[in-house]
Amino acid sequence: KAAAGEEAAHPRWVRINAIKSTLEEQLETTFRGYARAGTIQDVVAKEGKHILIDPHVPNLVAITPGCDLSKTEAYNSGKIILQDKASCFPAYLLDPRSEDGDVIDACAAPGNKTTHLAGIIRSHEPEFESEPQTIFAFEKDSRRAKTLEKMVKIAGSNKMTRIALGQDFLQVDPESERFRNVGALLLDPSCSGSGIVGRDSMPELHLPDPPQQNPQRESKSESTNKRKRKYEEIRNSDQTVIRDDDGNEIVVESEKDLAARLNALAGFQLTILLHAFRFPSARKVTYSTCSIHSQENEHVVMAALNSDVAKERGWRILRRKDQVTGMKDWPVRGSTEACNGDEEVAQGCIRCYKDDGHGIMGFFVAGFVRDHANASEDG
Ligand code: SAM
Repeated sequence: KAAAGEEAAHPRWVRINAIKSTLEEQLETTFRGYARAGTIQDVVAKEGKHILIDPHVPNLVAITPGCDLSKTEAYNSGKIILQDKASCFPAYLLDPRSEDGDVIDACAAPGNKTTHLAGIIRSHEPEFESEPQTIFAFEKDSRRAKTLEKMVKIAGSNKMTRIALGQDFLQVDPESERFRNVGALLLDPSCSGSGIVGRDSMPELHLPDPPQQNPQRESKSESTNKRKRKYEEIRNSDQTVIRDDDGNEIVVESEKDLAARLNALAGFQLTILLHAFRFPSARKVTYSTCSIHSQENEHVVMAALNSDVAKERGWRILRRKDQVTGMKDWPVRGSTEACNGDEEVAQGCIRCYKDDGHGIMGFFVAGFVRDHANASEDG
């Protein structure tokens, strides 16, 4: 079935799960018969099935949109995971190594990034017989935590992962003995979801123009037309649409409400970041959202860097030059203006926009590091 509208401009992204398979094995099995494409545009536009090996994130491929993998053995056994390229950035940027010790995924369901962390840990230490590190995965919502549990099991990361079902990360004591060896944390908290591609969302906060669609495909798609009509209706009223991270549409009555909601989200996101900074052995943190709004992105990063806890404990931005190769090479960076003119912080921030030709969702990620863990300090 052909993908429609906004989704048609995006390939299907597939991550090969390093715990269960390899890129080579998948190219010879699941993707046998796919022609190699040279660019994302070719993957999206050419007739037939095409595949492109991603140049930034290891073990990631882009394939022709609309190709159904749900019946393949590889999908059903957890050898491949359908995951947008941007959603692979945080675990790849965190790059957990055995010397980092245990890892926390603070907001984990449905588990894309938890299973990616496990895959990276395994690929760094393929020879280890026992599990080299533990991943503590927290999820406040018990229903979503059940999905997380399933996904971790299918992906074969269950031995490495301790899932705290229904556990609020903010209620966890960073000084607890259990977390003594936690050296790296991945934070992917709830956000407005304004970068997500497809489903029933509208791309822009202030609704300036109707969404850009491929005119040929648009005429074929009743759902796109319905979406456009709804969009026009909202545009002509005093309302704005944003989405939560489950993809549910939220109609905000006015821009004032929207500003208040973004403000509330940013407050929560900053609290999560500052809580992570308090883990005594932590030396690496990544913070990500699938939002395009600076309020949830660069502004949160700046507030975190300017906080007392960051200053006391020596947290700073992970500079572009110190990032893993694929992230250092990624061209789209944070906004210098939104970072109050701080070019080093802006360059450390990684951004994606869903309509910029890279075929991925709107996303933001930044890393924080410090040189020394401070085992018994408080602050
Ligand atoms: N990292 C996930 C993935 O890649 O599959 C997506 C995470 S989603 C953006 C945010 C999740 O954080 C939601 O499932 C939400 O229920 C959970 N959450 C929100 N606040 C939390 C908290 N204080 N503690 C733990 N989980 C929380």
